[in-house]
Amino acid sequence: MSNYNWCHGPNCHTKHIQSRVRGSKGNKVLRTMKVKHNEPSDRYWFRHWCNYFCNQSCLMEFVEHNIQGMIALAPRREPLETPIKDPTKETNSNNYGYSWNRWTIEEKT
Ligand SMILES: [Zn+2]
Repeated sequence: MSNYNWCHGPNCHTKHIQSRVRGSKGNKVLRTMKVKHNEPSDRYWFRHWCNYFCNQSCLMEFVEHNIQGMIALAPRREPLETPIKDPTKETNSNNYGYSWNRWTIEEKT
């Protein structure tokens, strides 16, 4: 048996899209989308947010609506750092006379 969540997008039920139309004739509504709940997996396409939002638009509207509460859950008061070896610069060029620099950055192990 499949489990479903209602999309958490705050405006999901206001989108003028055929998939939102529900109800009987004369009593039609635009309704929040049902989202199939999938178990977490290693498949490349699996993203946890897909269990709670029907699309990225609804996800980003939720973020916009709840950003202060989300930041309060895991505030960052200090920057994070990843130790790296001294970067080296490599200069490349092509047959058209263009050249460009590319920094090689390697993490310390
Ligand atoms: Zn939605």
